[in-house]
Amino acid sequence: MILLNPGPVNLSDRVRNALLRPDLCHREVEFSQLQSKIREQLLQVYGLESDRWAAVLLTGSGTAAMEAMISSLVPKDGKLLVIENGVYGERLSKIAKIHSIDYITLSHAWDAEIDINGLVKLLNENADITHLAVVHHETTTGRLNNLVELALICQERHIQLLVDGVSSFGGEELNFADWGITACAATANKCLHGVPGTSFVILRRDALPSVATIPRTLYLDLGTYCQQQDRGGTPFTQSVQTFYALTEALQEMAEAGGWSARHSHYNQLASLVRDGLASIGIKPLLPLGSSSVVLNAYYLPEGFSYEEFHDQLKARDYIIYSGQGNLAQSIFRVSTMGAITHADMERFVTVVKQIINNS
Ligand SMILES: *Cc1c(COP(=O)(O)O)cnc(C)c1O
Repeated sequence: MILLNPGPVNLSDRVRNALLRPDLCHREVEFSQLQSKIREQLLQVYGLESDRWAAVLLTGSGTAAMEAMISSLVPKDGKLLVIENGVYGERLSKIAKIHSIDYITLSHAWDAEIDINGLVKLLNENADITHLAVVHHETTTGRLNNLVELALICQERHIQLLVDGVSSFGGEELNFADWGITACAATANKCLHGVPGTSFVILRRDALPSVATIPRTLYLDLGTYCQQQDRGGTPFTQSVQTFYALTEALQEMAEAGGWSARHSHYNQLASLVRDGLASIGIKPLLPLGSSSVVLNAYYLPEGFSYEEFHDQLKARDYIIYSGQGNLAQSIFRVSTMGAITHADMERFVTVVKQIINNS
């Protein structure tokens, strides 16, 4: 089965085999070495130095990393602005609400790009904003939110920038230094091609709360994790086998040329699909240049419900992904992540053509 959903992804044999390494106690030195190695490998993906930056490893899906980032890094006297243009931006707001964080939102339609003028206006009216949270790649529509201008605005105003990079880390450019990113939440099982179960937050060490601060959460407190991981420990049991898979996936990615090589590979796959579908009249949701290379959304072919189209593709070994909310009956999504090849995508286009011609 070829998974074209945005994670979990098809694994390479190398990553799958890593799951079979020896049983290991999370309080032994071998685990400590494994954990430290992954933390270093994660920083190396974007060339970050370990004296200023830390990768904090969590057991949980990408949402655990989002929730850890927001609940640990916005202080009790802070105020958060959340930018919403899809499901995941709205999830950031839900997290703020659940943790009783003082927050406001800049909301957009799901297919809209970030309104920079609206952002400046809102910041002018709310001079007490200390943190801004934004989704880098909004997987709802495939839009890659442009963080360059937004990051500059945050830097001018000394606002800490918290990024949901769950579906972009490892596949798109993330310029931590130039954009002044404070923290970025991400996961093992999207662009890094690991197994679901491990997620992480990359953060600037100086953004961690002081040890005297009482955290909002026990399980997701990044301060506790970072302190213990720096000493080679872990506050709670980690998902040991998915750590094995993640270190192998990171090694595989580094050997293949790192995030930029992965970006070019995704770009080739995405273009192949986009051109192939365009030749049979299937149109993308967003204009060219607005989408990531990681995932693209398309309007359903005429005369097909999502379920019918999905089931016919599944019968031919391809899993596409539905739209969410209002988009559920009008679009489908195709991701390029995971161990998939040009040949897999060429066959996908052929199969779509067959399904449409047979209808
Ligand atoms: C996948 C995803 C998440 C996390 O979803 P989980 O199901 O918890 O892994 C968060 N943000 C974005 C942008 C995503 O694509």
